[in-house]
Amino acid sequence: MSEQYSLAAKVALACRIVVMEGQDDFSLGHISALDEDGLIWMKPSGLGLEEVREEDIIALNFKGEVVKGTRKPHNELTIHTEIYKARPDVKCVIHTHPFHAIALSTLERPLAILNHDGVPLAGEMAYFKETPDLITTEEEGKSLAQCLGSKRAALLKNHGAVIAAPSVEAATCWALHLEKAARMQLVAGPEAQEIGLEKAVEMRKSFEKMSGRYPGFFAYEVRKLAQKGY
Ligand SMILES: [Zn+2]
Repeated sequence: MSEQYSLAAKVALACRIVVMEGQDDFSLGHISALDEDGLIWMKPSGLGLEEVREEDIIALNFKGEVVKGTRKPHNELTIHTEIYKARPDVKCVIHTHPFHAIALSTLERPLAILNHDGVPLAGEMAYFKETPDLITTEEEGKSLAQCLGSKRAALLKNHGAVIAAPSVEAATCWALHLEKAARMQLVAGPEAQEIGLEKAVEMRKSFEKMSGRYPGFFAYEVRKLAQKGY
């Protein structure tokens, strides 16, 4: 299981998993995880998500200063620092540009819960419409964190998706679920019948009572990386 990995190794694995599952966009997109000492272990800029290995991951403090590693942080660093400041429960942040999630974000429609992929995100989606541009300043990062509130994910209109989770494993799974659920919604069209929020929340609670659900899915994705040669 994933306990055998350092936090930096888990971040690197998560980077490669999201690309293997279709969320690549040149060298854009980034993933970070927060350790118990308050260090943020993050994918650096300049590398594609699928190129990232444990030794490439940099450690930053909350001011955004690199304290370990030689590579540079992404310009959108404040997405991570401001969410961690606002949400003590969050230990991993993922920002990618998933094709279908972005397409959905342009429709100004909430995520429809049509199958099990949407269930972990039922009632857990925020919608950030303030700007389609990069989030580069402290103010913009704060504004996104405020929009996210206590939720698990946000669609950034005309831009991408942000996931905020208590572990790298859960964040990775929710990032994959969100893109699959958005794709399902676009394929099914506006006439699709939803599960309904109350039932979806009940299902979410029951799914997540199964201990090891997300670590198990993450471990499966790690095996798939090896099979596919990532
Ligand atoms: Zn972005």
